[in-house]
Amino acid sequence: MQNVILVLVDGLEAGTAHRCMSYMSALTEAGIARHTTLDAELPPLSRPIYATLLTGLPPTTTGVTGNDPPIATLPGTIFHKACRQGLRTAAAAFFWMSELCNRIPFDAARDRFSNDPNLPISHGLFYVSESYPDRECFLDAEALRRMCSPHLLLVHPMGVDTAGHACGVRSSVYRDAVRHVDDLLAAHLPGWLEEGFCVIVTGDHGMDEEGRHHDATALSRQVPFWMAGASLPIPASQHHVAGLMEKLLGITS
Ligand SMILES: [Zn+2]
Repeated sequence: MQNVILVLVDGLEAGTAHRCMSYMSALTEAGIARHTTLDAELPPLSRPIYATLLTGLPPTTTGVTGNDPPIATLPGTIFHKACRQGLRTAAAAFFWMSELCNRIPFDAARDRFSNDPNLPISHGLFYVSESYPDRECFLDAEALRRMCSPHLLLVHPMGVDTAGHACGVRSSVYRDAVRHVDDLLAAHLPGWLEEGFCVIVTGDHGMDEEGRHHDATALSRQVPFWMAGASLPIPASQHHVAGLMEKLLGITS
């Protein structure tokens, strides 16, 4: 069994990641991380793909096919399964993760800081502004890691997606947002590996020249996938990410 940190970089288009995330490429060249490119599920929208990454099921099966607020929380996410097995769970993430896993409607005053072992994401720092700084999100995650010793920790920065919507995938603004996340990974990832975590870094969907991610195009769909600190095979599809984390965590049901 191995503890897992999933870094889900919202809106991380594969080509820009490969160009600008030179720290992650250095890990690959050094044999510390392994890498592939995945096609995002359709539609390549955030909420449906969060649901797929957390359950292993496609949007047509989860029923989460758009970004509208959900009418129910998802059953059977990796957080539900980890909790049922007695593992500690934590997330520094956009509040949609709380809506998908913990409870709806999201009540910011109640839910922004969540600390309840009965919730699937038991220890949560959920931000509500899409402009929440990525540096703060990583620090939130690191604080949760040190305070709560989670077996499963989600780190979910939004700055890349926000830059993409504002300026498009071909802009220096977008590339700088991706470089910033690479710098944050360079600051945090060595310590996480030293502590024995398996670290997964990926995106939910890409970004196109118009600053959108809706279409069935390579720019909207292709995301990078890196895994460091574990020897299991890397997945060939976003469907397999939840199952991979289950195996790493030793989840049996
Ligand atoms: Zn977006």
